[in-house]
Amino acid sequence: MRIEERTAASPDTIHLNPQLKRMPPRRPTRQVFLGPVAIGNGAPISVQSMTKTSTADVDATTKQIETLHAAGCEIVRVAVPDQRSAFALAEIVRRSPLPVVADIHFDHRLALQALDSGVAGLRINPGNIGSRDKVEAVVRDAAQRGVPIRIGVNAGSLEKPLSERVERGETTRAEAMVESALGHIRILEALDFRDIKVSLKASDVIATVEAYRLLAGRCDYPFHVGVTEAGTITTGTIKSAAGIGILLMDGLCDTIRVSLSGPPEEEVRVARRLLQAMDERQGEPVVIACPTCGRITIDAASLALEVERILESVHEPIRVAVMGCEVNGPGEAREADIGICGGGGRGILFRKGEIVRRCAESEILAAFREELDALLAERDKE
Ligand code: SF4
Repeated sequence: MRIEERTAASPDTIHLNPQLKRMPPRRPTRQVFLGPVAIGNGAPISVQSMTKTSTADVDATTKQIETLHAAGCEIVRVAVPDQRSAFALAEIVRRSPLPVVADIHFDHRLALQALDSGVAGLRINPGNIGSRDKVEAVVRDAAQRGVPIRIGVNAGSLEKPLSERVERGETTRAEAMVESALGHIRILEALDFRDIKVSLKASDVIATVEAYRLLAGRCDYPFHVGVTEAGTITTGTIKSAAGIGILLMDGLCDTIRVSLSGPPEEEVRVARRLLQAMDERQGEPVVIACPTCGRITIDAASLALEVERILESVHEPIRVAVMGCEVNGPGEAREADIGICGGGGRGILFRKGEIVRRCAESEILAAFREELDALLAERDKE
């Protein structure tokens, strides 16, 4: 796709929230494009993830990208550690429904091969490529093809002089990360290349937040935000929600990745729900579920998971409640478009707090599907 054909990120899947005025304004930035997806300068905050298959295995990688796409991922990154992976890229790019970013360390030949394969973006740190002619070759090719480069600074792999200064207490980890990023930025700017985005990731939430806040005042490149090596699904979700959540409130996120030791589609689900929770997305269902208490009369936790699964294919702003008891549930969730609760073998469906249907408890999910279809049909007619 030529640059002039590119538009802001697909409007049927991403929606700028008119309530953004509730959030602090986003930091003004330049804008870059990964394929059709705009990043920065007020574009909707996009969700990205990374495949966990061997990139050389085209079928497995493509299958995982399709799973990510179905989960709502908008940009996918693949690791390119060797020539076999680099040669697989052309077919992966051809079959991918998402813009593909090649993640490369050190080897400029892999970067050139990736560019030749049609990737939408590179993640490579120019200071790690080697001699100036190698850097120039990659940057010139990326510029000609309109492919942006992400500078990805990781606290765990800072340049030795910087990490030694951190160890001696002469600078903080966040300051060192920013210094590293600025060094890479200067290399690209010296070659008149400004199609840049930047990430500054640590596994430590506070260092991550500090680093982005520091760099925000030093450049106008858009930020790819995440907390790296965040942990397992529970721990990683909490750390990502804390770190990304703070930076969303700061207006510093342009694209996000939640990093989890788990299936990549979980990263996407968490990221999307985080954006919803922060009012950064509209047009998606929201499920509220009561925490349950001693009055519970139905397995609300299992029902809530089933309802979330049913709603994965729905892209409408619907508020759904799953409540643990019939006595308090409809009233406590009176703002929900549809709610379910029950107990004692009975199931109840309600809309805006009013009971609209009763059924056997065993049929409650089937009844919910029917009520959901009816609500969507009503909206279509409006
Ligand atoms: S809806 Fe019922 S079970 Fe759930 S928290 Fe409220 S009172 Fe408890």
